[in-house]
Amino acid sequence: MTVFVPRSEWGARAPRNRSANITPGNGGTTVHHVGGSRTAQTDHGSCAGQVRGIQNHHMDGNGWADIAYTYLVCVHGHVFEGRGPGVRTAANGTDAGNQNWYAVCALTGGSPSDYDPVTDRLLDALRWSIGNLRDIGGAGHGINRHADHLPTSCPGGLSSHVLDGSLEPGAGPPAWPGVHFSHPPTTEHPGVRVWQSRLRDRGWSIGVDGRYGARSRSVCESFQTRHGLVVDGVVGPHTWEAAFA
Ligand SMILES: [Zn+2]
Ligand SMILES: [Zn+2]
Repeated sequence: MTVFVPRSEWGARAPRNRSANITPGNGGTTVHHVGGSRTAQTDHGSCAGQVRGIQNHHMDGNGWADIAYTYLVCVHGHVFEGRGPGVRTAANGTDAGNQNWYAVCALTGGSPSDYDPVTDRLLDALRWSIGNLRDIGGAGHGINRHADHLPTSCPGGLSSHVLDGSLEPGAGPPAWPGVHFSHPPTTEHPGVRVWQSRLRDRGWSIGVDGRYGARSRSVCESFQTRHGLVVDGVVGPHTWEAAFA
């Protein structure tokens, strides 16, 4: 079971300031991890100290107003309150990213060959955080990766869990990945493969290669026409949801 840890319980410092200038309904929640080295604590008693260390680094090292993340989640299934709902994050790396997306950071890390174990409790805590931000933070239905905002390896070993739809709270179709697929230029994104595979399963003649080329666009336009959608050849949230409905 997921346990929520308010700021007062992990010994958070007060923020220097807060901005409510956000429009998270246009995006959703971005998933992060700590970094390229293993970092998950064996003993949950150490997790609060780890979160305090991240806050100190962000405030004293980076000069930020507060810990950058909206929530932080540990492998033991606890959700630490960061900036919280309704507050602009500093973690997503771009103005648009921080404007439209919340940021949830898993207290995990590692390299592709040596990554912290991704526990069921961690995944449950991520789902809880995403659902909570939709319920009380006005977050849209997108779930994406830090790497979808700018080039980075974040969130490392959690990327596959973002992309396969398993972080969607409750049962249901995979969330729109927060990237509009269009051509030209050709969008290349792991989510394109998910969409192509779905369309092929539904009987469309389409290759599954993760590249949104001319054929994908043509199939998209036919699909949009048949489903009464705006026919623009772009896979955005509505066309994505119709594909999985
Ligand atoms: Zn990140
Ligand atoms: Zn923990």
